[in-house]
Amino acid sequence: MTTVDHLRQVRLGNLRTVLLALVDKPGSRADLAARTGLTKATLSNLTEPLLANGVLVEEPATLTGVGRPSKPLRFHPAGPVAIGVEVNVEHLAVETLGLDGETVHRRRIPADHRAATADEVLDRVVALVRQSTEDRAVLGVGLAVPGVVYDGTVVRAPNLPNLVGENLAQDLSGRLGLDVELENEANLAALAHLWPRHLAGEDFVHVSADVGIGAGVVLGGEVYRGVSGFAGELGHVVIERDGVRCTCGSRGCVERYAGLDVMLSAAKKKTLDELTTALQTDERARKAVHEAGRALGVGLATLMNLFDVPTVVLGGSYAVLHEHLSAAIRSEMDTRVLAGGERHTRLLASPLGEFAVVRGAAGMVTRRTVQQPARLYA
Ligand SMILES: [Zn+2]
Repeated sequence: MTTVDHLRQVRLGNLRTVLLALVDKPGSRADLAARTGLTKATLSNLTEPLLANGVLVEEPATLTGVGRPSKPLRFHPAGPVAIGVEVNVEHLAVETLGLDGETVHRRRIPADHRAATADEVLDRVVALVRQSTEDRAVLGVGLAVPGVVYDGTVVRAPNLPNLVGENLAQDLSGRLGLDVELENEANLAALAHLWPRHLAGEDFVHVSADVGIGAGVVLGGEVYRGVSGFAGELGHVVIERDGVRCTCGSRGCVERYAGLDVMLSAAKKKTLDELTTALQTDERARKAVHEAGRALGVGLATLMNLFDVPTVVLGGSYAVLHEHLSAAIRSEMDTRVLAGGERHTRLLASPLGEFAVVRGAAGMVTRRTVQQPARLYA
């Protein structure tokens, strides 16, 4: 590496440190210097170009008691944004996210994708992205799909088989002229609890039920994908060796006992709303959710014994049913999790509601931008 390359690397490393501090909260140059350990001169040097190109903004001076008034720096409220898109079996969702972690715009629209071709799906995504830029510079697009993803291509998607084998990242990037990153929805829902704010610590499992069961394992502040993107497939952990046949070809998978469709049919309800209402009075609905909770608890105990993480976050419809599921999940985990004797596993309901996946998709882009900030100087 030449000296010039080396200096450039040091500069980008320092810039990353400053941007991470600003994601945490705005601050004056003196405050940021104290928080990052950099000199005020270095800070000014790093932030000047970003103030000039509208990534950062200097707020009006505020008097803070003694000394000179401080002028906090923050991400510009009209600065560049990331766009997250979720393609799911029965809906599309989009979120426009600023570098400061503030949602600029988001919406969710019903759309049946079961029979749609990859081209038809991308047509809808392109239209949605174009409506969502809010006239701001776009850093890139994060695209979420309910399937296993490897290197920009969907490799397994039991509920959207027409997408398998398609390099959606490349195709969408070509159509939009923007960087596009493709990722599995369960991993993105987990990421949304990690970035830009830590909502559940640095080690946890996020599990949610939609058509299937999706789980994301977070270890040391990173989503664990495994070698080919298949890690965290909790839905296909076997809890009964000769049990009910599963769409994956195996038998006795957690998904066949704790999936949303299984709960609905056991409770004889059509929608999650109907099920939630029935839980107030209907014994059959309560039993259906309780049994699903026990099956989920057995599967989660296996995951806990493999990864030894302290927290489980219940997302999607599990977050809605949290109050009725938790006791059943816990009854199984308490006796099966080996580390349970040392500490109680925390069970949290996700605060992100139905937008966790798109938030993670947009967050994947803002996180990469902050971690690799060279493009902000463009
Ligand atoms: Zn299975």
